[in-house]
Amino acid sequence: MKVIVAEKCGFCHGVRNAISMAEKILAQENDVYSLGPIIHNKNMVERLAKSGLKTVNKVEEIRSGTVLIRSHGAAPEQIAKLKEKGVNIVDATCVLVKRVQHIAGELERDGYKVVIIGDENHPEVRAVVGCTEDAVVIADESDLHKLPENARLGLVCQTTQSREYFSRMLGAIARGSFSELKVINTLCQEAIKRQQSAVQLCKQVDIMFVLGSLESANTRKLAELCKKYNSETFHLQNWNELDKNILFGKNVAGVTAGASTPEWIIAEFVKNLEAFGAGSR
Ligand code: SF4
Repeated sequence: MKVIVAEKCGFCHGVRNAISMAEKILAQENDVYSLGPIIHNKNMVERLAKSGLKTVNKVEEIRSGTVLIRSHGAAPEQIAKLKEKGVNIVDATCVLVKRVQHIAGELERDGYKVVIIGDENHPEVRAVVGCTEDAVVIADESDLHKLPENARLGLVCQTTQSREYFSRMLGAIARGSFSELKVINTLCQEAIKRQQSAVQLCKQVDIMFVLGSLESANTRKLAELCKKYNSETFHLQNWNELDKNILFGKNVAGVTAGASTPEWIIAEFVKNLEAFGAGSR
């Protein structure tokens, strides 16, 4: 089968940096923790666990050693607790996520009601909320009732959301009542480039694959966008998940991957897909 890989896909610089920091620390130390999975990819988490990285979900589970703050960041309250414990903190928060945290704090200090557009359960959003006293998270139109009337609203967005979603939510908020609306574009260009190149590719192929964890927000967003333009879009974690029956009758496949999908998963998938049906030709 002919396979075309999206021009921009796979690890972004924020994820690459977090992984390489983890590998460096693991080469030097034994007692190393990640506060939450280092990235939303089970295969990568398992690979680093074999090298000794212990993933914990709560600060309370850490007593000593070194703690890596993943690219999604952590709330100041969590960092303060870690400092109290006297553990070594290595901060791999992506600079773009740091920027949102900083902007949210500034907006609040300037008297705005901070509004974060995104998924309130995502670790990045939870950390940004933690940088404010009282931010609200708006995931969709059903959350608009959380906005106070006639307030000065300061808006930011979860970095990996799409432009379409951001503008839809901006429109919905702007139709409500407020006295001032300040909007800071905090979308990640890396994520947007991946979305644009995936959309371009999915229009040219018979079948489209989006590789990455089902928990990864940016991968889910890619799959959602591709489905709009190519109904034959499948979001899979790796080659083993593919039901080969869906390949019959298809000649050209497109492949893209989220920012947290390791290169080896993409390479294995592409190699197997290219070989698919070769024996019967
Ligand atoms: S997707 Fe963007 S914001 Fe998220 S870690 Fe990568 S570079 Fe940073």
